[in-house]
Amino acid sequence: MDEFRYTSYAQEIIFGAGSLARLGEAVERFSWRRLMLCSTGSQRRNGHIGVIENVLGERLVASYESIASHVPDVQVAEASALAYEGKIDAVIGLGGGSSIGMAKAVSLAVEEKRSGRPARAAIPTEQPLVAVIAIPTTYAGSEMTPTYGITHHENGSTRKITVTDAKVTPKLAIYDPILTLDLPPEMTASTGINALAHCIEALYSITRNPLSTAVALRAVQAIYSALPRCYASGDDLEARTEMLMGAFLAGTALAHVAMALHHGLCHVLGGTAGVPHGVANSIILPHAMRFNLGAAASELAQAAEAMGIARAGKSDESAAEEVIDKVYELISQMNLPQHLSEVGVREADLPGLARIALQSSAVRSNPRPISDAAQIEGVLRAAW
Ligand code: NAD
Repeated sequence: MDEFRYTSYAQEIIFGAGSLARLGEAVERFSWRRLMLCSTGSQRRNGHIGVIENVLGERLVASYESIASHVPDVQVAEASALAYEGKIDAVIGLGGGSSIGMAKAVSLAVEEKRSGRPARAAIPTEQPLVAVIAIPTTYAGSEMTPTYGITHHENGSTRKITVTDAKVTPKLAIYDPILTLDLPPEMTASTGINALAHCIEALYSITRNPLSTAVALRAVQAIYSALPRCYASGDDLEARTEMLMGAFLAGTALAHVAMALHHGLCHVLGGTAGVPHGVANSIILPHAMRFNLGAAASELAQAAEAMGIARAGKSDESAAEEVIDKVYELISQMNLPQHLSEVGVREADLPGLARIALQSSAVRSNPRPISDAAQIEGVLRAAW
């Protein structure tokens, strides 16, 4: 890590129990007049959308509340048309990574339609025409990143395409742990493991830097301590607050480095095989760590201390092995699926999934070089 490159994004973060109430004041300060909401039915049922409607009043000019997982292209077209008609100047993503991803996709689509040219930011100082506001209710971390994925449907098959543009990085992120109190145990566990995976892949990323490493290690500590407590008692506000802080740090680490094999595989499993993102993370993470053990033992071993594993007298390799075992145990304790065969992936699908994954830029950025689909198929078979 003697040389590195680091990009930061202009964002305001408001964190704390009850911070959703500060949305109105922030919208006023940013001078946003016409807003759209992207969310899901569960946020209407649990009352969070009602709170936002009250806070924004007539400023809320459009709402799209049926976002499906993995952000299907058809829905992006519908929501973008609504946003364009509403002449919005900001779009809110309320919910998990899919709602926030939809808000980012809408922001770029509206900018492209209004300006008549591709809205790709070459430099991080370029600002969007339509700002994104993120209010996360899971631990997936999209609120901190310049990236989103859309699932494209073509000729009967589906593929998730990732877009990165500094302009879609949310200008405002409101982290209110109260919004996570009703996150069901399985979603708590799986999106929590997604946050942990951001830290692990940030630690051994080929583009890691001193800031991403420091942030990832602090996040591992918070997540490893708080996630089992959130899973056991969803209404434990102290644990929910610590876990959301860990997810914020994990998302920050994710935003500033290239991800690797684990993320490349999870995107293919989500976009092509329909596996929920957090569940794919839970199944793949220990296997991706093991695949990278030889190339990243010292980086993985750094996580040991953050997880409370004694390091004295142990080689990097044996500390890294212990970290992998602890991650596997945590996933198992929270009763998450641990085999691809449990979530509808057929053995016959594995070679095709490996071939698609080989084209992913994340896979090509893996610390242990990957040049052959057979290497990826080996990881998928171990996870099957
Ligand atoms: P999700 O957004 O797909 O949500 C899954 C389900 O959980 C939905 O039905 C949603 O309504 C429900 N839900 C969310 N919050 C809830 C709450 N508080 N109470 C009850 N139900 C709730 O799941 P996710 O795992 O958060 O996000 C996954 C998506 O985000 C994937 O498409 C993934 O690729 C993407 N992602 C992107 C980034 C990035 O940096 N761009 C990072 C992580 C994930």
